[in-house]
Amino acid sequence: MTNNVNGHNTGHIPFVDLITLHRELYDELAPVFRSVMETAGFIGGLMVEGFEKDFGSLCEVQHAVGVNSGTDAIRFALTAAGVEPGEAVVTVPNTFIATTEAISQSGASPVFVDIDERTYNIDPAKLRHLLEHECSIDRETGRPFYHKLQKAIAAVVPVHLYGQMAEMDPILEIARHYRLIVVEDACQAHGAEYFSKRENRWRKAGSMGHAAAFSFYPGKNLGACGEGGAVTTNSAEIAHQVRMLRDHGQSRKYYHDFEGYNGRLDALQAGLLQVKLRHLTEWNRRRQEAARRYNEAFGGLHDVITPFEPEWSRAVYHLYVVRVPDRDGLQKHLAKAQIGTGIHYPVPLHLQSAYSQLGHRPGDFPVTEAVANEILSLPMCPQLHAEQQSYVVQNTAGFAAEGTVHQRAATA
Ligand SMILES: *Cc1c(COP(=O)(O)O)cnc(C)c1O
Repeated sequence: MTNNVNGHNTGHIPFVDLITLHRELYDELAPVFRSVMETAGFIGGLMVEGFEKDFGSLCEVQHAVGVNSGTDAIRFALTAAGVEPGEAVVTVPNTFIATTEAISQSGASPVFVDIDERTYNIDPAKLRHLLEHECSIDRETGRPFYHKLQKAIAAVVPVHLYGQMAEMDPILEIARHYRLIVVEDACQAHGAEYFSKRENRWRKAGSMGHAAAFSFYPGKNLGACGEGGAVTTNSAEIAHQVRMLRDHGQSRKYYHDFEGYNGRLDALQAGLLQVKLRHLTEWNRRRQEAARRYNEAFGGLHDVITPFEPEWSRAVYHLYVVRVPDRDGLQKHLAKAQIGTGIHYPVPLHLQSAYSQLGHRPGDFPVTEAVANEILSLPMCPQLHAEQQSYVVQNTAGFAAEGTVHQRAATA
């Protein structure tokens, strides 16, 4: 079945189109495969080092260390930056579970603070409130001790969700005051920027915390043809620790300073990523353009809340997330029109079965809970074109015209 908009054949509109991207790039990617086969250099080596150097430049950091996933990148970053088993690490309930899995796998316990309703990212005021009112300061270490868990809070993981950076100036100021480690979860934010008033300049995602984690899962703004991730940092010591953690705790073959992991980035993936990295800035620009087109087109629709991009942010739109009263209704309506959508994320982490032992209840993080019921991620990728977007907008408007959106809003 096909749809016809302004004479253009829109057909099925996938949520993300990874096939077109790889067709476009096939001639650039294929030689990487050949060269890896010819050298049998599957693990480590020049391809990994070359990609690490290029990715570090993109993020404007001194060190990038390739690892085998974003999840491992968060875990290695936390451990390398000094988080110890038995401590607590603060993050948000509105994120992918990998963020908290990595915290738990580092031996620490996740502690949640709610998000800002407009940016969907961590609310610095709520972070400050937790540290001021639910912790006491340990006289010896100067660090906050969290009464509820009876644990020291060692770190905070701001997540740059949907491709927009968290509000880093206040987060870093709070972290300095409370001596917290900051590990950015930049898994959705390759190339995103934040204007630091404190430094009076734009800073790249992954360059502001003690360390940061990136994912190269295929659907991310920079995606491998398989799994991959990286830790970025300006600390030579943290970079060295991550290199050891990813490689069984060894700095020299078969000499192990501690137990590490098998967490390396494959040479093949590194080579493919290095090719794709050359296109990232252009891809991000196309995502930003697509977001602008959506914003304009949705301008007249009252019940569609479009993404909020503060003046201090240059988001890279990993996802384009709208908020509507009858999200499930709209999602079904768009599915009937063959428009793919997603929900990021339908169940807040504090209400997941996996975290029932934390003892949270509905109502604990009201902003996250409210938005979880109303957010919908629309088709977004660099290959998305204007005609496809008009078709998405027309169908969303059509749903509103049927009264469903307005009705709910009027009774709310
Ligand atoms: C994708 C993602 C991760 C995990 O990355 P993987 O490479 O899939 O392990 C972590 N955090 C966020 C916010 C993500 O979107």
